[in-house]
Amino acid sequence: MSTVYAIANQKGGVGKTTTAVNVAACIAEAGYSTLLVDVDPQANATVGLGIPRSREPGLYEVLTGQAKPRAALTETPVAGLQALPAGAGLAGANVELPRIEGFEQRLRDVLDPIREDFEYILLDCPPSLGPLTVCALVAADKVIVPVQTEYFALEGLAGLLETLSLVQRELNPRLTIAGMLLTMHDARTRLGQDVEREVRTHFPDLVFDTVIPRNVRVGEAPSHGLPVTHHDPHSAGAEAYFQLAKEVAARG
Ligand code: ADP
Ligand code: MG
Repeated sequence: MSTVYAIANQKGGVGKTTTAVNVAACIAEAGYSTLLVDVDPQANATVGLGIPRSREPGLYEVLTGQAKPRAALTETPVAGLQALPAGAGLAGANVELPRIEGFEQRLRDVLDPIREDFEYILLDCPPSLGPLTVCALVAADKVIVPVQTEYFALEGLAGLLETLSLVQRELNPRLTIAGMLLTMHDARTRLGQDVEREVRTHFPDLVFDTVIPRNVRVGEAPSHGLPVTHHDPHSAGAEAYFQLAKEVAARG
């Protein structure tokens, strides 16, 4: 049975997709069968793995019952890593889903029959706390929260943690926080150092030891349709994601 991780933060551009794609690639490379589900209508994880944005069926067709989950799975450039792409209509799901009774359980239900095929399933969430994110949090066992080390890093985290405890209480008691991940970190600047200290002080037990540095190779990898771990495995960004994957696995 797989462990399901949601990569979530309602802020955009904090490194959710980058983290989902690269942690999934590292875990797969370590020999575990892994699935990345693109829960974001922007389909950045889909495109970042070299899969066309318009590929169908995708998660939209699966959520609306037009396709079976297995039919929507596709291979990626990474051996051992499969993807369930977003699907062209996923933006509409944020409007359509709430009309379905018990929609919160929908993603969990559709993933259920394929959970036995994978050791790890990662869910790349959209930048909101809307219906798709709620579905992902209900389907997940653990959440990884990427936090960009910039001036407003802590802003919004309180709201996110409230949402997580609400989901825990009402919909998914199994849900735990795997950790907060500092991303796009620049350790040379005073601001970078200050923000890291502040986040670690606020959440002493939650923040991963591994920090992801700002790294050009990480930023350019998606334009090649590859995780950075394959685009340039010796870059500082790839090494950080390999390290993080080990830490995630060690935390269990
Ligand atoms: P989110 O999914 O939270 O919106 P992304 O993972 O798409 O965030 O990251 C936002 C942008 O920052 C993307 O263009 C991505 O390539 C870039 N990026 C993410 N992490 C890094 C990093 N460590 N170094 C450099 N660029 C990064
Ligand atoms: Mg994203």
